[in-house]
Amino acid sequence: MTSPAIGQSRPAPIAISEGIPWLIGAVLFGLLLYYFVGIDEGATSVFGDTMVVHEFVHDARHLAGFPCH
Ligand SMILES: [Zn+2]
Repeated sequence: MTSPAIGQSRPAPIAISEGIPWLIGAVLFGLLLYYFVGIDEGATSVFGDTMVVHEFVHDARHLAGFPCH
């Protein structure tokens, strides 16, 4: 058995079962971010009938191309 030469190292493999929780967390975080940036407004607002979240993410909303005003 030969050891890899300098500069030819390989990344350690990661088992699928170890990656699933990270994948689920990333998807949930992405959906949460998508909701707060793109959808949370007025009647669909999580924090009642306020525009607090909408105003906080307003620039991101325009940057992402969501309809606004
Ligand atoms: Zn706007």
